[in-house]
Amino acid sequence: PATKRKYGVALVGLGRYATGQLMPALQHTQNCQLVALVTGTKSKAALYGGRYQIPDTHIYNYDNFDRIVENEDVDIVYIVLPNSMHAEYSIRAANAGKHVICEKPMALSVAESQAMIAAGEANQVTLNIGYRLHFHQAHRVAIQVGREQPEGAVKYMQAELAFKVTDPSEWRLNKALAGGGALYDLGIYCIQAARYSTGQSPVSVIAREYKTDAELFSQVDETVNFQLEFADGAVMSATTSYNFKADRHFVAYANNQSTLEIRDAFNYSGQQLFMNGRRVALSRVVMQSLQMDAVCRSLESGADTGISGAEGLKDMCILDAIYRSIAADGRRVVI
Ligand code: NDP
Repeated sequence: PATKRKYGVALVGLGRYATGQLMPALQHTQNCQLVALVTGTKSKAALYGGRYQIPDTHIYNYDNFDRIVENEDVDIVYIVLPNSMHAEYSIRAANAGKHVICEKPMALSVAESQAMIAAGEANQVTLNIGYRLHFHQAHRVAIQVGREQPEGAVKYMQAELAFKVTDPSEWRLNKALAGGGALYDLGIYCIQAARYSTGQSPVSVIAREYKTDAELFSQVDETVNFQLEFADGAVMSATTSYNFKADRHFVAYANNQSTLEIRDAFNYSGQQLFMNGRRVALSRVVMQSLQMDAVCRSLESGADTGISGAEGLKDMCILDAIYRSIAADGRRVVI
């Protein structure tokens, strides 16, 4: 259903995800539209301002960003910056009275995540995390499996998500900007899938890191294998890496067949869903459009989006426990 009015969105940080995915997705939204840009790069202001007809009055940089408080066309500020800037800009946006969508991973620490939630509450604005997969058909089925357990409780899950990072100047390899490596950037998708397919949060974790290139990955984790353990005995085994490309595969077993399998599970497109071994046809959706439209509807209905800051905080606590397990050479860490 459409909202009573179209909400205005400001994108902050015009990098690959903002320009390659979110700007095109905003051309397909029903409930919101792109009305403002925040960028530190003048050439991008000209390029994207021109392409999307954003007037100069609605283009900000990081120094004058707080003036967005005066812009009544902006309802939602969407933070698409390197992870180290998420907390600062989410809090500044909330203090400007704007609803916030912040990209994953939510922040650099549990404490920063809590501060973001507190800023939202203090300013009576909402905070959501860019968990786009909640709005993909295949993952909606996974959420339903977690809620309804059609084959009984999920007992075992497996996921891999890995790609090769080769550019040493990439912020993802800089701990101060990224917070962590492959686990931080990619593991969060595996954690999310395990949580929504079981309808539970894990109670403990076991994790190990494997490093083969100590120079390129001197600051952040390269390959991490981790187990999430759930109160009812369910287990998730996942691997993330920045040093090879792996099938972005997710599978959940409840019975003697794979109850749910999603191939190319975490990609922008091309997901294939199998239920009990049978392929299920999926129609094409732009999940980021659906994500932003759902956030807008929640502004009017108060409905839970499923991707709130509180959900992001749970994932930050799990990531924190995984890093503590790695630091303790694979010891079980209770969350
Ligand atoms: P990029 O490096 O492509 O873009 C980041 C942008 O942030 C830059 O282009 C720049 O924009 C701005 N920026 C400001 N300060 C810095 C700095 N010190 N170093 C680098 N960039 C800076 O990153 P991505 O678009 O890949 O990722 C951005 C965020 O989105 C991350 O949090 C990432 O985890 C998340 N993401 C989420 C995805 C999803 O599927 N949900 C997919 C990909 C990323 P400008 O020049 O305009 O100032």
